[in-house]
Parts: sequence; structure tokens; C-alpha cells
Amino acid sequence: MRIVQKYGGTSVGSLERIRKTADIICGELERGHQVAVVVSAMSGETNRLLSLAAEVSDNPARRELDALVATGEQVSAALLAMELQKRGVAAYSFTGAQAGVKTDSSYARARITGVQSDHLIERMQRFEVPVVTGFQGTDEAGNITTLGRGGSDTSAVALAIAVEADVCDIYTDVDGIYTTDPRIESKASKMDHISYEEMLEFASLGAKVLQTRSVELAMRYDMPIHLRSSFDLVQGTMVSKEDDTMERAAISGVAYNRDEAKITIMEIPDHPGIASNVFGPVAAAGINVDVIVQNVSEEGHTDITFTVPRSDYAPTMKIMADLCKGLGASGYKGDNTVAKVSVIGVGMRSHAGVAQKMFQALAAEGVNIQMITTSEIKITVVIEEKYVELAVRALHAAFELDRAAGEG
Ligand code: ADP
Ligand code: ASP
Ligand code: MG
Repeated sequence: MRIVQKYGGTSVGSLERIRKTADIICGELERGHQVAVVVSAMSGETNRLLSLAAEVSDNPARRELDALVATGEQVSAALLAMELQKRGVAAYSFTGAQAGVKTDSSYARARITGVQSDHLIERMQRFEVPVVTGFQGTDEAGNITTLGRGGSDTSAVALAIAVEADVCDIYTDVDGIYTTDPRIESKASKMDHISYEEMLEFASLGAKVLQTRSVELAMRYDMPIHLRSSFDLVQGTMVSKEDDTMERAAISGVAYNRDEAKITIMEIPDHPGIASNVFGPVAAAGINVDVIVQNVSEEGHTDITFTVPRSDYAPTMKIMADLCKGLGASGYKGDNTVAKVSVIGVGMRSHAGVAQKMFQALAAEGVNIQMITTSEIKITVVIEEKYVELAVRALHAAFELDRAAGEG
């Protein structure tokens, strides 16, 4: 088999962990597999580099910020290559640029446009082990770019596709994908398998166990991901094509995202084009609007409420300040202490009453729902951030996802 493995921050977080990681790689080579490795920075390192930059400047140039944070991955790649060489393995570290990872020029959230992988395939066929820095590439002009937080997952899947690997093994600090974040609900249970489609919802609704873009790529190219622990080498969770033969529960899991802020613009004269006048300038600033609710206020007027990532709260409020008068709105207000909680499941297509059950469970805990949005396979509510853990646990129990005592 040809395998691309990715090791997250905790799996390369110390020299001891790097030795453990090298053990796993050697094990696969001994079993006759061809291996390429993608590494994250040692845990905490990306945050440390970002805080150094923040000390230097309030508004560092985005090009330099990417050049800075990309260094974290170089340290772990070189250390792991040395550890493997010590054991007689022909391992070589490569930066994103050396590995041939090409991206567009959107610093801090670049998208991979291609991987020039011929040299990597040749090495793998000789049982050499390329150790590639995750999270980074270079744009057409040769500038260093990074792929957004958690981006090493995407590097790994892109590399796996480029070298035509059989599987992309993603090693982390949990032994699989759970029905909800096990850090919040200890009764969460591990899934053996999850479809690309459901995993995409999980990731985009906040389950940071895999970067959303990595799942998008895996789905598009049908590259199965095995998410597993580098601490405990048990079978993890396979993310792959939907298995039609399975009988499904209505809900597969619960996700949450605290990275949310809500803005309401009040009493805008209601006429065609109003939404475009509000959201045009927001989009032009590169801000992603998520949930939108519009309701009638007074006769001929409407209120529009929407959410944005919390990091975009201040710039969005600024845009509203500039916009409000011109649009004839009576005012605007914001709240950056909201969060999103979602229930997800392809089984929802064939089960009725999921929304009602969700709203009932939240009401029973006294959690007020501020906004609601649905798709075919998910229901999302916006609530006050302080109720996130309560809401996640209540929904996990209501949809009978809690692991029975003694199980698993
Ligand atoms: P890495 O540094 O290896 O990329 P991350 O911290 O990015 O690791 O992702 C692993 C973490 O994702 C886990 O420790 C867990 O707390 C969190 N997580 C969130 N939702 C889930 C979920 N549904 N299943 C498993 N882990 C989850
Ligand atoms: N080191 C980067 C981060 O902390 C990329 C990653 O770990 O996937 O976000
Ligand atoms: Mg991660």
C-alpha cells in the first residue's frame, strides 16, 4: 500500500513524541508499505509565533505573518527526519515549496492549486520517506503562504491525492471521530465510519478534528481518511463514501462553534435589493456571513440579523456604522458572545420530528434559541455562548447518543 500519514501538533509535541511517531512510521515500512509523512508544528508553536508577531505590531503584513508561522512546521519536519535517519531510514524533510505545494495568494487562508508530486512518488517507490511540512505552500510568485488553522490536514489529503495513495492516515490525540467533542461530553461514542458528507457538515459546523477543506478535497477525489490516535494504535474512524446498507439513527452527532458573533440591523425600509445593499460591502471586505434571519418589524420595514466569525466582528460593526444611515435603518447592534450548536445526520432525511425534539431538549434546559437554520442533513441554532456545553450535552442525551455505562 501507499500511505500518506499526517501527525498533528501533539504527535510531534516533544522529542519523546517524535520518537513514538518514528516507531509508527518504521512499523508501516516493515509491513512493506510506501510512506510519506506530513507534520504540523510542535503543539503550541503556531500560537507562540502568532503572539510574537502581535507583540511586534498590531497589524503585521500578512505576507510576513505567513513567513513566520510557516517556520513551526519546519522544525518538526527536520527533527522527525533526523530521528528516522538515525534508525537507518532514508527520510528527508521538505518545506511546502520544496515538496511542490502550489497555492493561490490569499495569505493565512490559501488554497492549494496543485502538488508537483513526481519526485515524491519516485522517492516513495524507493522506500524513502519524504517528511513534508503541513500548513504551507508557495504562490505563483514564490511567496510563502499558509492554509489556515488546522491546515496540515488539508496538506496531507492533497498530498495523498497527488501521490495516488491508498489512504490518508491522520494521527492525532483522539482515537477517532466521536458523536461530539469528547472534551465536552465524556459519554460521546466513537464512530467506526462516517461518510464524507456528514464529516463535511461536522467540520464546517465546528468540529475542529479535521479542517473543513481537507474533507472537501477527500470527498471530491474519494480519498479515504483514517483518523486515529498516535498514542494508542487501535482502529480509528474511517471517513469514506456513504455505506447505503446501514440502518441509520436520525442524528449521527452534535457539533458546536464558539467562534461566532451576531449583528442586527434594525428597521430598514423593506424593498428589493436591501439584502444585497447590506451584504455587498460585507462580502467585499472578504467577510463570510453565515446564518441570516430576516423578519418584518414595522409596516414596510424589516430587521436583518446575521452571524460572522468572531474575528470579523469589529470590522463588520464598522461596516454597519458606515452603512446604517445611508440605508435608512433606525440602528444596529451586535453581540460577540453567541455560539452555534448543530445536530447532524444523513438519517434526518428519513426521520420526522428532529427539529421539534431538538427545540424541546433545549427548552427543557432553559436555553433560549436566537436563530435557526437548517439543511437536509443538519439543524443549527444560535444561542448564548455560556450555554454551549449544557446544550451539547442535552442534545447528545436527547438523541440517544450517550454511550451506555461500561460500553466502548
Ligand atoms: P491535531 O493537533 O492533531 O490536528 P486537533 O486539536 O486539531 O489535533 O484535533 C483533535 C481534537 O479535536 C480532539 O482533541 C478533540 O477535542 C477535538 N474534537 C472536536 N470534535 C470532535 C469529534 N467530534 N470527535 C473527535 N474529536 C473532536
Ligand atoms: N500548525 C498549524 C496550526 O496550529 C497547522 C496545523 O496544526 O494543522 O493551525
Ligand atoms: Mg488539527
